Amino acid sequence: MNRLCQWYHDLHQIPEASMQEDKTRCYLIQALRKMNLMPISLTQKDILVYFDFHQDKTIAFRCEMDGLQIQEETTLNYKSMHSGWMHACGHDGHMAILLGVADQLSKQEHASCNVLLIFQMAEENIGGAKLLMEAGIKSRFSIDEIYALHNFPRLKSGCFYTRPGPIFSSSHEINLCILGQGAHVSKRHLGKDSLKAACDLYWQLSQEIPSTKTCLHFGKMKAGTIRNGVADKAEIEGTLRGFDEQVVEQQLKDMHCHIEDMIVKHGVKIQMQAIPLYPCVINDVSLYQKVSKKIPFQPIEKMFLCDDFAWYQQSIPGLYVLMGNDHHVPLHASTYQFDEKTLQQGLNFYLSLLE
Ligand SMILES: [Zn+2]
Ligand SMILES: [Zn+2]
Repeated sequence: MNRLCQWYHDLHQIPEASMQEDKTRCYLIQALRKMNLMPISLTQKDILVYFDFHQDKTIAFRCEMDGLQIQEETTLNYKSMHSGWMHACGHDGHMAILLGVADQLSKQEHASCNVLLIFQMAEENIGGAKLLMEAGIKSRFSIDEIYALHNFPRLKSGCFYTRPGPIFSSSHEINLCILGQGAHVSKRHLGKDSLKAACDLYWQLSQEIPSTKTCLHFGKMKAGTIRNGVADKAEIEGTLRGFDEQVVEQQLKDMHCHIEDMIVKHGVKIQMQAIPLYPCVINDVSLYQKVSKKIPFQPIEKMFLCDDFAWYQQSIPGLYVLMGNDHHVPLHASTYQFDEKTLQQGLNFYLSLLE
């Protein structure tokens, strides 16, 4: 078996939670040391490998290390050994590819620029990218450009897909808390029905604010405690995603207006929390133009997905590229599979950026 596959298989078996990628880090550090490299860390949670080729320019390649809390249901003979955890986003494959880059660069004395390899913790939640930016990764290594590959099922293996400008959306977590007044059903006119208000609010927000520019979705709701009472409290949880900060801000304002209406109509209190999570993944246009001369990118529409890579792009010109994966099961599913033949394709992609 070639080394890329071996690394991928080994890493696939030890998926770990965000910020707890300890075994994964040990494995990577050992593999890198075998290449006579000196991995370092800015936060104790990340692994960085810096190749100083004495050039003015430095480019960074990012991969992620965390797995997901999913019970694997594939038939692979190198299945996860961590019960209830799975590399269902292909971060194992992404790490193997960057180990391949490290291996190649460890044998080179020259390159067109300095290279920083980032094995990043906690992409799936928390946002390890933000922590690394706060730890000063950009200035410490004078990063001029940053790139990330992410495999994507249902796209053709061997093809690379991206677009200039926004590709993935920003996201806000939306929490709505409706406070009414409990009462027995026989005296329900004395209560303030938070369940009714919540349903009304749900419809108002879902129907009155439709937009192709944003995605407002509520996936969780709970209300009341007993069947023959008026519910005194209801909670709705959702997400708001968009590609343009101003449009998202306007939508949040519109939501507040609807909430004010509901407060008057139902006599309840409503609190809304909009917690910003990740900014939009926005590809640098001139970087896209430059790289697309070397790599014939396939076009792709922007999607209401998120990636913490956005944090790097806030101040470093960056390119986020989707790598086709012939398998059909989507990311984050218990039967998802990384496409092994893309390991070499991913490695070639990164190396071609250094030509
Ligand atoms: Zn994921
Ligand atoms: Zn991922």
